[in-house]
Amino acid sequence: MTKSTFKLDMRSRKEALTSNRPLYFTGKACPRGHIDYRRTQNGECCQCARDRAVAKYYSFSEESKQKTYAWRARNREKYRQYLLSRRERQTLLVKRWRLNNLEKCRAREAKYRANNRELRKAQHKRWRKANVDKARLQVRNRQARRKGGKGKYTLDDIKRLFSAQKGMCAYCRTDLTTRRHVDHIIPLSRGGTNYPANLQLLCPQCNGRKHARDPMDFARKEFGLLL
Ligand SMILES: [Zn+2]
Ligand SMILES: [Zn+2]
Repeated sequence: MTKSTFKLDMRSRKEALTSNRPLYFTGKACPRGHIDYRRTQNGECCQCARDRAVAKYYSFSEESKQKTYAWRARNREKYRQYLLSRRERQTLLVKRWRLNNLEKCRAREAKYRANNRELRKAQHKRWRKANVDKARLQVRNRQARRKGGKGKYTLDDIKRLFSAQKGMCAYCRTDLTTRRHVDHIIPLSRGGTNYPANLQLLCPQCNGRKHARDPMDFARKEFGLLL
């Protein structure tokens, strides 16, 4: 670590306590000569804490280690909960650290993305294959946003719409079980939104005829409906 980064992170314990940081860095050596972060909780030098943990582990006799393993085997669920609680704490610490080092993290993540572009592409392809409906929905919502349509809808919204329309086309009442188009009642091109309230399910034929025409006009001409 360079000196300038050290300076950036330099804080007193008081400061670390008020800004809720798990660690702080004073730049001063601990009583045993380490220059390292200190734990906000108790002011202890991190290198000292690491040394202490290692020494403690080696100080355990073989017998006491076996005792511990036996306890874990007898109390699997308790031990699992303990590990989970540690993991939560660890996640919190990592999250907090990320917030405190946002710029550094973002730069590192961007670099990682750039270095793993192919891998990510392959992962995404696999996900799309396993989640065809969700992937299609993502594309639709993105297209709508590009056309200036506010809002988005989910697969559940479509399910609700389907049962509200009793599985029939909103115009001609054709059964929609096998094929259906999600239609914007007021087209996006005429300022309609992409929220569920502006959606209806149509059969491909009706949707084709309606395409880009004024919905009121269309409904009146085709069906004589007063909307
Ligand atoms: Zn130390
Ligand atoms: Zn229809």
